[in-house]
Amino acid sequence: MNTMHFPSVGATPVIAIHGGAGTLLRSHISPEQEQAYHAALQSVLRAGQEVLARGGAALEAVCVAVQALEDCPLFNAGHGAVFTADGTHELDAAVMDGARLAAGAVAGVTRIRNPVLAARAVLQHGQHVLMAGEGAEQLALAAGLAQVAPSYFSTEARRAQLRDAQARAAGAVLDHDGAAALAGRQQGGPLHEGSKMGTVGAVALDAHGHLAAATSTGGMTNKRPGRVGDSPLIGAGTYADDRTAAVSCTGHGESFIRVAAAYDVCARMAYGGQALQQACDAVVHGALPALGGTGGLIAVDRRGNVCLPFNTEGMYRGLARAGQLPETFIYR
Ligand code: ASP
Repeated sequence: MNTMHFPSVGATPVIAIHGGAGTLLRSHISPEQEQAYHAALQSVLRAGQEVLARGGAALEAVCVAVQALEDCPLFNAGHGAVFTADGTHELDAAVMDGARLAAGAVAGVTRIRNPVLAARAVLQHGQHVLMAGEGAEQLALAAGLAQVAPSYFSTEARRAQLRDAQARAAGAVLDHDGAAALAGRQQGGPLHEGSKMGTVGAVALDAHGHLAAATSTGGMTNKRPGRVGDSPLIGAGTYADDRTAAVSCTGHGESFIRVAAAYDVCARMAYGGQALQQACDAVVHGALPALGGTGGLIAVDRRGNVCLPFNTEGMYRGLARAGQLPETFIYR
């Protein structure tokens, strides 16, 4: 029921995106906020679709989409990222090009405006795959990427979410669940916490038959400084291989790391001959829940099948095929 399976349409280019999964209930989100999410997702999809329509690479399409999601304060990445326990922001991002199995990722960056572009710079630089902290900042600077004061990432809504998580002294709280807890108490207003969710990601198939994936996040509210989630770990939160699929995950990162979630989808297809939907379901409704792992993922295979499964109440998500209207969804 949570998995949408679209018939194969050959090599028609397609892009899919997510803005985070979690306890998203209709009662927590006003119609206006719901509309704002759909509008944001639609505009991001159209930007990715344009890249694919002019024959652009899947890697470019996913970077354009994730950069736009990072710039949107509705989602937990870039501007609007969640806070660490120390009241700071530590951002993670990754990109992977399924054509070459080339990948780039950054972890724990604090001043790069668009972490996904830093991840792409690591990929293009070619020497390493994962750069953390100051070294990643330096590489991004050398690549000419925009830097910002750390306060650029902060929003009042995220600060309230941190205060709530700390008041509950519940340890690290998944962005989505912290937001949902607040939403129950704070209906209606502009800072309605039900609307403050979402690690972001994109996957795409281009006209040349290549796949790519990108993911970007502020991580989890009230996380310990130095904690790195699944998003920047190639194989855990992000993976792409032209022979199988491109995958971007969202949810409780520790569980996704332990099951190598994104790679597991591709491995099930490569070694087990599973179809995309079967592989995604096995991970999202089997391997992850077995560890108590909540969340979801988006995936596209080389034939253009798209799966958007999640084991939570909802996941901000959408897809757009070349020449067709984008479709966006929030709930089951
Ligand atoms: N997976 C992200 C992390 O653990 C969080 C999320 O998807 O909301 O850092």
